[in-house]
Amino acid sequence: MKRGFLNSTKARKQALYPASAPSQVTAPVACPNQQVQLAYKPRYGKVENRELPKDYTPSSVPMSDCMQSNGVYKDHAVKGLTFTTIASDGGPAGDNTELLLEAPTKQKIVSTPGFLKPVPRPSDSACYAVRSTPDMGLGCFATRAIEAGEIIFAERPLLVVPAACRLGNSSQIIARYGIHQGNLVVLAEWEKVLEVAVARMTEENRTAFMALANNHKEDGSGPILGIVRTNGYTTDKIFDGPVRLANSANMYSLILKIGSRVNHSCRPNVAYDFDLVSFSFSFKALKDIAAGEQLFYSYCDVNVSASVRRSQLAPYGVVCKCLSCINATPVSDKIRMEFENRIGNTAKWMMDPGANIHHALKLRQDLIDEGLEGQRTYACCLYAISMMYMAMGEPIQQQIFQNEFEKYNHVAKLRV
Ligand SMILES: [Zn+2]
Repeated sequence: MKRGFLNSTKARKQALYPASAPSQVTAPVACPNQQVQLAYKPRYGKVENRELPKDYTPSSVPMSDCMQSNGVYKDHAVKGLTFTTIASDGGPAGDNTELLLEAPTKQKIVSTPGFLKPVPRPSDSACYAVRSTPDMGLGCFATRAIEAGEIIFAERPLLVVPAACRLGNSSQIIARYGIHQGNLVVLAEWEKVLEVAVARMTEENRTAFMALANNHKEDGSGPILGIVRTNGYTTDKIFDGPVRLANSANMYSLILKIGSRVNHSCRPNVAYDFDLVSFSFSFKALKDIAAGEQLFYSYCDVNVSASVRRSQLAPYGVVCKCLSCINATPVSDKIRMEFENRIGNTAKWMMDPGANIHHALKLRQDLIDEGLEGQRTYACCLYAISMMYMAMGEPIQQQIFQNEFEKYNHVAKLRV
């Protein structure tokens, strides 16, 4: 969904099941090493008449019959998927992760060289707090000033499940009950599967999971699926088969305890990365964050107009009221849509720095006005300005922008 540098090849939050009505069933895709199961994408928004068919009887999904000495359940397979646990490695019990995934995918994960490293712990774990907000439910807030590039927290996901319903018999269900009621039955059946994954969690993790927001209470999703759909992150490091497929068909949704509390803004001040070896997410500051400020991640693309952002946020049930959305104009839309192309003019600007530096300074100011200092373009722009001042023989100005570049390059990590 996002193309920003911090999201491109790493973890990202993504609208699960983004298809609008009518629901769709995607064809199974055969991979050389692994058969990817049928992926089913349900609707979002308000679905009228959510009554299940009278003759529908929910399936019984078996629970694992045995708990191991470390307090976690043994693996067990249901409907072609395996329930499994990544147990805490001596850290807090909250480091346990419950997973529902294809057996070869589990194998790929656990055979990652170096797996499983401890979750990296930031030097100061008290620089944020989860508190209520006036209009966004709970949110994460800085409890002290945080510098750009600083890691704020790191955590293992509470739960990892397929990013789309994978019952294996969705087509038969739809054929039997028709599209509308069939959709509802598929969701009900998938909820039964997810219930087992949640039942396997530690009590602490289950309580944390069930306390997360659910913006899918009117589309037929059960309470667990609703939480998954509202809070799921994806990572391109976990998928079934040899290649990632379109529409997240073979990807996974990861639900976090703290990260799921980070609200959306089109002016993000944090980004995150998923590390397979420690099986953990780490959230870092994209720009300087003042004490008391709320942490925000962008659930949508930041390089599109306000109306496109609005439509991308709809599956989350999020109506963004950030400054950029409230004050959106054709001018700000243009800035968003063009900033990535504008930095491509650097070589041209360098041919006559004195005549062109105002273009680079204007780009920097536009990015600040839109709250996009965390974008790669911002660091590129600072570097270009510093180089232009150097060419113009203005060392003081050059140093000012060089210093600012180095600060933001903690995040952008340009090699210059
Ligand atoms: Zn916004």
